[in-house]
Amino acid sequence: MLARPTPIAIVLNQLSVPTARKLITSIPGAQLYGLAGRTTDVDVSFTNFGDTVRQLYREGVPIIGLCAAGILIRTLASVLTDTKTEPPVIAVAADGSAVVPLLGGITGVNELAETIAAALHVRPAITTTGKIQFNTVLPNPPAGYYLANPEHVKAFIADLIAGMSVSLEGAAPWLVASDIPFSTDGERQIVVTTRSIAGSPTRLVYHPTSLVVAIEQPDQFTVTEWLEVITTHLTTANLTIESVACIMLPKSIAGAAIAGISQHLNLPIRFVESNHWQSALTLVGSDPNWTIWSAIETVDPHSIGQAQGKLTVVGTGPGSAQWMSPQVRQTILAATDLVGYHTYLDLVKDLSGGKECHGSDNRVELDRSRLALDLAASGKNVVVVSSGDPGIFAMASAVLEVLDTAANPAWQTIDLQIAPGISAMQAAAASVGAPLGHDFCAISLSDILKPWEVVAARIAAVAAADLAIAFYNPISSQRSWQLAAAKEILIKFRSATTPVILARNLGRSGQEVRVITLGELVPESADMRTVILIGSSQTKLIPRADGSNLVYTPRSYGKW
Ligand code: SAH
Repeated sequence: MLARPTPIAIVLNQLSVPTARKLITSIPGAQLYGLAGRTTDVDVSFTNFGDTVRQLYREGVPIIGLCAAGILIRTLASVLTDTKTEPPVIAVAADGSAVVPLLGGITGVNELAETIAAALHVRPAITTTGKIQFNTVLPNPPAGYYLANPEHVKAFIADLIAGMSVSLEGAAPWLVASDIPFSTDGERQIVVTTRSIAGSPTRLVYHPTSLVVAIEQPDQFTVTEWLEVITTHLTTANLTIESVACIMLPKSIAGAAIAGISQHLNLPIRFVESNHWQSALTLVGSDPNWTIWSAIETVDPHSIGQAQGKLTVVGTGPGSAQWMSPQVRQTILAATDLVGYHTYLDLVKDLSGGKECHGSDNRVELDRSRLALDLAASGKNVVVVSSGDPGIFAMASAVLEVLDTAANPAWQTIDLQIAPGISAMQAAAASVGAPLGHDFCAISLSDILKPWEVVAARIAAVAAADLAIAFYNPISSQRSWQLAAAKEILIKFRSATTPVILARNLGRSGQEVRVITLGELVPESADMRTVILIGSSQTKLIPRADGSNLVYTPRSYGKW
């Protein structure tokens, strides 16, 4: 099973920071969130405690709040969900003297509380009955075990507490080490098995992740066929998919087909040097294309070969954190390596603690893409950081272009994703109203990657078509005349009174948005951090009492 996000600790004042630092050292990858203005030396700064905690909870992130239990309870009350899926939530006293698991009994809160309490040299305040009586949490087995029938666990525990005897079939050191009084012929039964058998209120079934599926020839089948092959053979052998720890692939193989299998089966992929991995395993079934192996104990996928590399090209939005999607935030937090233009990496420095940052100059997009692909091919979780939307005049196409033209087989196995963002034109439009409310287009005025004749022909074509236009890259130190040339073309088609929006440094310090007319547009109006919106013939102003104007383009084009 793929893992839950790494826990975070959250503090509201500087007093709690040392305790928080001490406890997160016991949790690999955990980050420290601190209230902006009240805390320093934290990994992520936030401004609104309630919104931040609720968002983390919704994203399934385990939360350790260094604050009163009541604060966390009140904050989360309105968003509490299913106990089977909610993340662990723990309150820790600011001085580290108390560790109180609040939510997530089924999803591991007690285990997390024990880890934290051990780091702080205190005893956790565990309140789960089964945990106290039997020193284990049956609904939440340790890593490597999967409970097949969670719907029966409550009644099962109640029976145990009432004194019923229980027998254990199969091997599970954590159950043997617990205080459950096992007897050979119990009235209740716990079965630990890789076989697919039915659970019931009188029988709990745990599947150990001790199977490994090795695929020899990934290109033999499509993703759908592989899914079919794997599930059919497991079923035939009466084995359950829940017992599969990972899918192994020879490192040398360019298994394009395989990338989707990991997601579909919710299983990690591990790349191994051919033939180096079988020694500790027993053969369960095979075919020229695949093999199923079984281990005596559960298999930790991390101990086998190398991970499937991941590369996500993200767009952080035009500037401020409020315009960054939760998906992008999560992706950046989970990354091992960040790749991007220095300025964009600076914009996410609140999220980049503990990661390798590979900053480069602007204009080396293809080199940057190659570096990102190579890092991902070596098993890293890489994020390429773009501003705005990554697919709009940005890094997503650069990465795909390199992937397409260089065709390095090692890159085929990378799990490649693009995570969208708010583009500068959307933020600019929203700041003044809805100037892009009808048909519009976006044009980059840069003639570095395409000749000016092409740019000029496009401006004339879309001006004639009466589209509203968003101009990106309007001007730079090396390109000073293009904006004036663009205006000269536009003015042949559009009235000098056409509304024009100049939006500079959106979401960043120095944000400035002005509404002018096409006639007033001069090169000095813009710089490389400005996006310019040109209205269509239908774009209108609505004067406001404070002297400002709203701008919009009606959705209907009048009568026709
Ligand atoms: N991917 C980005 C665009 C990158 S091209 C996006 O979707 O927004 C760079 C151009 O985008 C700049 O020259 C400018 O025209 C525009 N731009 C990017 N960020 C901006 C911001 N915060 N404010 C105004 N314009 C911005």
